[in-house]
Amino acid sequence: MKILCVGRNYAEHAKELSNAVPTKPMFFLKPDTALVRGNQDFYYPEFSKDIHYECEVVYHVCKEGKHVNPKFAKDYVDAVGLGIDFTARDLQQEAKEKGHPWTLAKMFNGSAPVSEFLPVSDFKDLADLHFELRLNGETRQQGHTADMIFPLETLISYITQFITIKKGDLIFTGTPAGVGPVKIGDRLEASLEGKSLLDFHVR
Ligand code: MG
Repeated sequence: MKILCVGRNYAEHAKELSNAVPTKPMFFLKPDTALVRGNQDFYYPEFSKDIHYECEVVYHVCKEGKHVNPKFAKDYVDAVGLGIDFTARDLQQEAKEKGHPWTLAKMFNGSAPVSEFLPVSDFKDLADLHFELRLNGETRQQGHTADMIFPLETLISYITQFITIKKGDLIFTGTPAGVGPVKIGDRLEASLEGKSLLDFHVR
């Protein structure tokens, strides 16, 4: 399986990192070794001094698709959950300055914790999902999928022109404003439509 991630999909977040609001989706990948399930602890890696959380809505792909028409894009996902796109902001900044890929900053072991996945049929409208991240009990990010620059239909139709999606793939859909650093001992909790899905510590 692969993890497809979208960068800068919420205008307020693009602005907080001084990035231009994109005119087409900006994708990157994480390997399966980034994945962490079951609210296991996140281990702060030694190679970074500035790991940031980015809470994101994540979709589970249920069938293979290439050149998917936006009209049918929703048929390719069957479940939704939350994930953290952990980012070594210091390594990412260095890569940006040199024009290098984000591989080491975004794709390291454990950089993609994900929650359990809920059937999309549990939700009336995927473009109307509220989600929230709390750090040590304090709300840091509040997102609404209606604010995505590129909605799910666009993301799937766009990426499948280049890369085939397959059953079991995950799509991270971008983070709203409020990203920030974590430190050892922190507790991260995230909820989707008021339901607590992620709850783990940084070790
Ligand atoms: Mg992200």
